[in-house]
Amino acid sequence: MTIFAPPARRTTTEASKTFVPLKIEEAVLVPPIDPSLPRNAFTIDVEDWYQSSLDYDAPITDRVVRNVDRVLAVLDECGVKGSFFVQGRVAETYPSLVSALVAEGHEVQAHGYSHRPLYSMNRDELRQELDRAKKTVEDAAGTAVTAFRAQDFSILAENLWAIETLAEVGFEMDSSIFPMRSRHYGIPNWPLGPHYLTVAGGARILEIPVAIWSVGRLKMPVAGGGYFRVLPRRVIERGLRSIADANRPAIVYCHPYEFNADELGEYSDVSRRVTATQGFGRASFAKRVGTVLPKLSFGRLSDVLAAWGLR
Ligand SMILES: [Zn+2]
Repeated sequence: MTIFAPPARRTTTEASKTFVPLKIEEAVLVPPIDPSLPRNAFTIDVEDWYQSSLDYDAPITDRVVRNVDRVLAVLDECGVKGSFFVQGRVAETYPSLVSALVAEGHEVQAHGYSHRPLYSMNRDELRQELDRAKKTVEDAAGTAVTAFRAQDFSILAENLWAIETLAEVGFEMDSSIFPMRSRHYGIPNWPLGPHYLTVAGGARILEIPVAIWSVGRLKMPVAGGGYFRVLPRRVIERGLRSIADANRPAIVYCHPYEFNADELGEYSDVSRRVTATQGFGRASFAKRVGTVLPKLSFGRLSDVLAAWGLR
């Protein structure tokens, strides 16, 4: 058990100056014995690239619908059900996309509303963002939304108080803390396996970080997204197997647009530098996911938690 005190650095809002002590407790994992339940979770953050990456005020386009179809084609081919963390604005714009995911047996959870980073918000703004994130996806899905992943892993040391707001809004699980330092996000030396965060008021959130391969003092994200596009496939597979050997679940994420190599050519106002970086590895991404998924046991987050005795 650890009491984590966020270091005072890079304060971006008045509210973030409020110190929120969090109690961190490692979750007790029971190695899975039911072979019908998946050991690792395949999760998809459902958003429209231009709106989520370049202009938060841009409309949501039907590119997201077509790209989700590409994800579903790969999942169907592999016989895997996934957990879709849907952005609220996407759910609001295309509710039938969300209800169809539920009808096909996938899990639907929340990925913010606006895609603005959470560390840019004060408490009132965050409360509103999370309320809308939960309600819009629940309205579209017709199912309860209990898990959250922040846009761009935007819960950092400086805004860990966001965990308290997540609990207030009614979320029970979170996968927003990237458990190592990275260029744009992450908290150094954070627990790599599932753990409980208890906030000052006593509410408890199950935190489920994405997959990090740990070898001695070295840590390498094998978490999906850009890491899946950049790293050699054998490194990804070795990392995921190493996580399995360490007796913890691997949580992998991706975005629907990563399954589409052609989309970036449709944006005439986006610089070639951005499209080159964003497009790197997209051409082989669907094939790569389709190769990696059948080699390990993947499925919905809720089933993975049940497999490891956490639900
Ligand atoms: Zn996102």
